[in-house]
Amino acid sequence: MLIQENVPLAPLTTLKVGGPARYFVQAHTIAEVGEAVSLARSRNLAFFVLGGGSNLVISDAGWPGLVLKVSIPGVEERSQGDKSLFEVGAGEQWDKFVAQAVSRNCAGVECLSGIPGSVGGTPVQNVGAYGQEVADTIESVLALDLKDGQVRELCNEACSFQYRTSIFNTSERGRYVILRVTYALTPDGEPAILYADLKKYFAGWSTKPSLADTREAVRQIRASKAMLITPGDEDCRSAGSFFKNPVLSDEQYKELSQRATAKGLQIPSYPALQAQRKISAAWLVEHSGFSKGYGNGRVGISRKHALAIVNRGDATAAEFVALKEQIQRRVEDTWGLRLETEPVFVGF
Ligand SMILES: Cc1cc2nc3c(=O)[nH]c(=O)nc-3n(C[C@H](O)[C@H](O)[C@H](O)COP(=O)(O)OP(=O)(O)OC[C@H]3O[C@@H](n4cnc5c(N)ncnc54)[C@H](O)[C@@H]3O)c2cc1C
Repeated sequence: MLIQENVPLAPLTTLKVGGPARYFVQAHTIAEVGEAVSLARSRNLAFFVLGGGSNLVISDAGWPGLVLKVSIPGVEERSQGDKSLFEVGAGEQWDKFVAQAVSRNCAGVECLSGIPGSVGGTPVQNVGAYGQEVADTIESVLALDLKDGQVRELCNEACSFQYRTSIFNTSERGRYVILRVTYALTPDGEPAILYADLKKYFAGWSTKPSLADTREAVRQIRASKAMLITPGDEDCRSAGSFFKNPVLSDEQYKELSQRATAKGLQIPSYPALQAQRKISAAWLVEHSGFSKGYGNGRVGISRKHALAIVNRGDATAAEFVALKEQIQRRVEDTWGLRLETEPVFVGF
């Protein structure tokens, strides 16, 4: 196991900001993950697990302890009843696995095409898009429990998945290193064409879209919003959506509607969001004085997506934090709601 020192972390993230890791280890096997954990313990080093770096804001000071990059490879497929089970190494690229599942004509993750990051990162915030989330298909998660050093298989229920959350980023944050994820997909299943954008894309088609058509549609829609990493497009230098869609109680929703009415506005109604009592964070941001393309410094709002804060070149993490706080403050002053951030802040 190679232990590197003072390794720059910015190039390992999609945002491209932040300082170095004091120590850095890349683990390709479960045994190497165990060795890295023992090393951190024996030297009393703060420990951070890095996946594909697509949901992170690393502080300018970097990470003072050990960063473990999980690079466990492998995809194994087997049948179980009417499902195909895919056991996937945490270090596999998520979108590469989605492409493989679609090419095997297995349904369940096609709408999650084009999301960057690793397989091991997907259970953490219960990755979701266009009406699907990994909670719908995760059968189990194999993880090293840092509490007692045991490798455990956690079933779907044990992960407590909800909108952008699981035990891995809430109650048990920092407890597990995810080693492998098993997804139960449906052979020859129908694609999930639930969201308006997808329905619009396929309007007028005389044939039923296949899983491959759906994957292609999702990738094209994402590209138009700079939510597909495209080399050279600076609007893609983001961590995806910077804020979560707020989930409101009836009372909060009523108050928000009253504020909107007083301004002569109507909260937009998206059936898919409303079913989960979510409202659009993008709408709140855009109706608090921010627009796509906002900001003329090194950090700004994407020209293609109101929720993506982008690095326009050589930005610092401090600049990201300053814009994030400006947006949160103004949304709170205007709408009485505090937007929660989606990316993980590391080393702050
Ligand atoms: C352009 C763009 C579009 C995006 N679109 C979406 C979207 O549509 N939907 C969505 O949900 N997300 C989206 N994201 C966010 C991001 O891609 C996902 O959250 C992704 O799953 C993060 O995985 P990662 O491997 O990059 O994790 P990282 O960013 O490396 O880490 C994120 C968190 O997961 C933890 N982690 C990662 N791997 C492991 C592991 N093996 N064991 C334990 N903990 C681990 C880290 O410690 C950290 O807390 C987008 C991001 C970008 C840049």
